[in-house]
Amino acid sequence: MAMHILDLIRHKQEGRALTEEEIRFFVSGYTDGAIPDYQASALLMAIWFRGMTDEETAVLTQAMAESGDRLDLSRFGEQSVDKHSTGGVGDKTTLIAAPLAAALGGRVTKLSGRGLGHTGGTVDKLEAIPGYRTDLPPEEFLRQVERIGIAVIGQTGNLAPADKKLYALRDVTGTVDSIPLITASIMSKKLAAGAHAIVLDVKVGSGAFMKTPEQARALAQAMVTIGRRCGRQMAALLTDMNRPLGRAVGNALEVQEAAAVLRGDPQAPADLRQVSVALAAQMVALLRKIEPSEAERLVTGALQSGAGYAKMREWIAAQGGDVRVLEEPSRFPAPACHVPVTAARDGYITAMDAAAIGRAGVLLGAGRQKKDEAIDPAAGLCLCRKTGEAVKAGEPLAVLFTNRPETIAEAAERLRAAVTIGSEPPADRPLIYEVIR
Ligand code: URA
Repeated sequence: MAMHILDLIRHKQEGRALTEEEIRFFVSGYTDGAIPDYQASALLMAIWFRGMTDEETAVLTQAMAESGDRLDLSRFGEQSVDKHSTGGVGDKTTLIAAPLAAALGGRVTKLSGRGLGHTGGTVDKLEAIPGYRTDLPPEEFLRQVERIGIAVIGQTGNLAPADKKLYALRDVTGTVDSIPLITASIMSKKLAAGAHAIVLDVKVGSGAFMKTPEQARALAQAMVTIGRRCGRQMAALLTDMNRPLGRAVGNALEVQEAAAVLRGDPQAPADLRQVSVALAAQMVALLRKIEPSEAERLVTGALQSGAGYAKMREWIAAQGGDVRVLEEPSRFPAPACHVPVTAARDGYITAMDAAAIGRAGVLLGAGRQKKDEAIDPAAGLCLCRKTGEAVKAGEPLAVLFTNRPETIAEAAERLRAAVTIGSEPPADRPLIYEVIR
């Protein structure tokens, strides 16, 4: 009997596990256009509510990984390494960790995504750099990695096309924060992209898709298990996203902040430096088969010597980017409006709703509210205060940057509502909760 997408939607609504045949029918039908967006959205929403078994998740991941081409990285032996974040606000760690790992001999073959929901995406950040090409064809990508040890591209060509389409659809249908869908999305890309070692940064907290360490651990374990089953070396960090990482949220702003960390700028945010170094250390530890503590010493050395920054410049230039923006931010297109948002009272920042801050950034133009909407590289915000810091009434909490003046009032309201000010400083939270190796 012929299969029909409506039967799959009903099966999942009723909480049944989909068969391998049904999952493969959905993935190939949606990828080749036979299943329209509205029916795929309905199935995604049923999966969001009902979940998937481990077996269903593994089949979905494999089917998505097999939906297009796969990169052959055998020329790099066991030196190829990739990293992926589950998504955060202000998370520009790839721009720092990837060149650090490459400076230490890793072959960083990184496939990155665009912004998703309230979270940013590395491809959007890199496209803020004038001239940067995120669409290298596979052979050029591989040759660049051979030559300089690093290339970072988007999901171009035909790599995991099922994820490319589903990712864009989930972004605008409220179906992102689902453990099976995130697992299949990330791991299908990672398997198709072929790296031998994969480091996952699983974000936890108000700005993450996983709100609690338990959910984040379950997601990390699902991804690590699938990767190991496919013969990959895996490590995952559970890192804090109860506040944005660093102070910059928005594409050009985040590139500048990442460059500041790699340049050793003393004003660069310490939290961003710490998480980026920890991720790079896991990458190096897997490649060199050494303890993470020893790898961390090497990574810190590459940061302090400037080797990581030199590698960033080499990489950006190799992909056609204008490296002058890294030291001269005025070369980025300037936003028309800069507007401070001030504190209503004296006190300490006791909590931040990082997702709401991400949504304020999206509203200003740093992300998408509709499929294929253009991003404004200049838009975003810079946080003047973060959790734990003191503020006085009338002092700025953040500065908003936009070319859409009509969004300022709502973005400012969201930003103010996202920041809780109390009389006592809050207890310290860890930045890194757990390492799964
Ligand atoms: N990053 C991805 O690539 N996919 C998701 O679903 C979430 C974060």
